Amino acid sequence: MPNGTQRATDIAIVGAGITGLSIAWHLADKASVRVFDGSGVGSGATAIQPGGVRQQWGTEVACLMAREALAFYAEIGERLQPAVDPAFQACGYLFACHTPEELAVQAKNVALQNRVGIPSRLIGPDEAGALVPGLDPSSLSGGAWCESDGYFDRPQAVVAAFADDMQRKGATIVDRHVERLEHDGSGWRLVLRGGESTQAQAVVVAAAYDSPALLAPLGVALPITRASRSLFYSDPIRERLLEPLVVSHERGFAAKQLADGSVLAADLSAGTVPGEGREVWHRRVRATITELVPILEYVSFPVLVEGFYDVTPDRQPIFGEIQDHDGLWIAAGLNGRGLMMAPAVGRLLADSILGETADPTLDSLTLARFDQDELVHEAQVV
Ligand SMILES: Cc1cc2nc3c(=O)[nH]c(=O)nc-3n(C[C@H](O)[C@H](O)[C@H](O)COP(=O)(O)OP(=O)(O)OC[C@H]3O[C@@H](n4cnc5c(N)ncnc54)[C@H](O)[C@@H]3O)c2cc1C
Repeated sequence: MPNGTQRATDIAIVGAGITGLSIAWHLADKASVRVFDGSGVGSGATAIQPGGVRQQWGTEVACLMAREALAFYAEIGERLQPAVDPAFQACGYLFACHTPEELAVQAKNVALQNRVGIPSRLIGPDEAGALVPGLDPSSLSGGAWCESDGYFDRPQAVVAAFADDMQRKGATIVDRHVERLEHDGSGWRLVLRGGESTQAQAVVVAAAYDSPALLAPLGVALPITRASRSLFYSDPIRERLLEPLVVSHERGFAAKQLADGSVLAADLSAGTVPGEGREVWHRRVRATITELVPILEYVSFPVLVEGFYDVTPDRQPIFGEIQDHDGLWIAAGLNGRGLMMAPAVGRLLADSILGETADPTLDSLTLARFDQDELVHEAQVV
């Protein structure tokens, strides 16, 4: 916060993805807020995500944030007054385990989740088969299941709802790319593409994998890299084939039928091995479909959509004010969980920027953690 104690009342947010929009929404009642994005609202990874919302994580900080976010989304109608109902469906998420070792990992995760009030549980192969019609459980050692995890049928309606409601509260969206940030007295100068500039008391950089480029000229090294993620989509199918989301870490596989009938399937290792491409990813997806969800065997996947995760070394986001740069905040490195965490991210950052509460949740997520030897890795990234 500028000058250590002064409350920032004029705040610029760089990036109008779901992260920047939620922070703006949470600040808008108490501060003057402008959100800058030269590519348009929700044009980054936010445009690609298909709407998954889950609480089954492997670290306490991620579980707490996911739980808070889901509670917010349960009241999205009253809180954001969306123009279009985003239609959350609690379809359940199954983390399928093929070995006793993976089952032991999920058992530990479930114990942690239950400790913080998340109603997940460990199940055997037969129950997995009963909960997920179309699943062949014969290769499974069991799984972890949470029935309140689910999907927004219309995920872009969530993005629009944050953007619309934050503007009703008085925040504005500025259709400009921020080229550079400069210290300016006790505040900040934002140099915009085209040459103009503007000032703000505080700046929040919520520009996902583009955040390091903005902070590097200030001598701040952000360990965030861009990692490709691809989703295969089928054409819409009238029959309902696969209601819950099924994930297998061991097979690097995830699949779900969306509300419009299209089936999405992902090879989670796609993009990680140089030289591999669509055909290899497709072959791997098909092999796991045959083994695990044979009901999808006759579904074809003509569409491949690519997006990007903003990845950190410990797969945890980076939040908080940057040391030695009063009034400069970071909220990036969401590692594939931006939509499902957005309400908690917005609340945590807004409280902290306004100096209202010192939530210990943020302590473990600051940039300064990378100066220490021990990072707490989040392994439940899909
Ligand atoms: C294939 C795929 C599937 C996913 N599935 C899910 C899912 O089911 N559930 C879930 O919760 N998450 C999912 N995610 C992750 C989710 O999409 C992201 O975590 C989330 O959208 C990140 O939001 P963000 O606002 O932090 O970043 P972004 O949405 O990337 O927004 C960053 C914005 O910053 C802007 N920007 C960058 N540089 C500047 C600058 N210098 N000046 C002004 N503006 C700038 C960009 O134009 C962009 O609009 C998925 C991601 C992918 C790729």
